[in-house]
Amino acid sequence: MPVDWLKGGLKLQGSPLWFDARRKAEVSFVSHAHTDHIARHARAIGTKETLLLMQHRVGTIDDTVALDYGEAFPFEDLTLELFPAGHVLGAAQVRVTRPDGHRVVYTGDFSPGEFLTAKRSETPACDTLIIESTFGHPKYRFPPRADVYDEVAAWCRRHLERGVRPLLFAYSLGKSQESIQQLAARGLRVAAHESIHAISTLYSQLGVTIDARCFDGTFHEGEVGLFPPFKKHRPENLGAVATAVLTGWALEPWGARRSGADVAFPVSDHADYPSLLEFAKATGAREVITLFGFAEELAAGLRKEGLLARAVTEKVQLDLFGAPIRPLPRRPARS
Ligand SMILES: [Zn+2]
Repeated sequence: MPVDWLKGGLKLQGSPLWFDARRKAEVSFVSHAHTDHIARHARAIGTKETLLLMQHRVGTIDDTVALDYGEAFPFEDLTLELFPAGHVLGAAQVRVTRPDGHRVVYTGDFSPGEFLTAKRSETPACDTLIIESTFGHPKYRFPPRADVYDEVAAWCRRHLERGVRPLLFAYSLGKSQESIQQLAARGLRVAAHESIHAISTLYSQLGVTIDARCFDGTFHEGEVGLFPPFKKHRPENLGAVATAVLTGWALEPWGARRSGADVAFPVSDHADYPSLLEFAKATGAREVITLFGFAEELAAGLRKEGLLARAVTEKVQLDLFGAPIRPLPRRPARS
């Protein structure tokens, strides 16, 4: 299936359909509502959760097509079908089937395993797989999510018992809501920054109740603070605090320092390297395109496994399905 990599993202050749276009497009599939996957399109296709969350960020979109997971949607001479991706509430992979039966899957960001606040990802069968590779390097192997949250909860309790306020830093969409629920399941209460609380309210409207109070400048007894990982959002004059960032980049020596935190815990809403390999093989794809982050390293790993894999990165210009590829600008990765 011909696909063009253009300045605003990935687009099907001979069709107006984009995948996660980063600029306003005539029509784009939107895999999820993280800011590096959305724009105010003329027409947006996604799950109802993604459409609501993205409009919270970019403003009203007049023409939206809300699809359920597994629902077949005819688009021109193609059929579109969405599959859960884990990651954040509403995240979806899309499978595009053309009239001759060739199936292309675009994963968007995805993560295997159980989430309390997102549907468990599925593995759609396909012929061509376009897969994210944010953590596509053999050095990235995440411990089980539940084990990491056990450690985070124990760390919070240790500090609370000593009269030190634990402050956690996490992205406002997805990581924060999952963390609130994981901590609540371990008996901890959270006061969250207003940007996190606003998104949590949307989650609750969508049927996924998030149990956190909006931080109003002071903490109640026993509360854990939760803030976005940017210094401008951090409260001051709180007395004794201990800080931790929740990010897949915790596996790097600079993981905590990058966010100005004391420590970092490897809570990720992306697939790690072994999961990416396993997923790609399980789709049965004959060809794999890797996108974002460690795209070349993942493509090399997939080739060792016998798959025909190619990377699209800013360093390499490739001919993808016979179409000219332009360099991909590096972007900050959601973790
Ligand atoms: Zn994302």
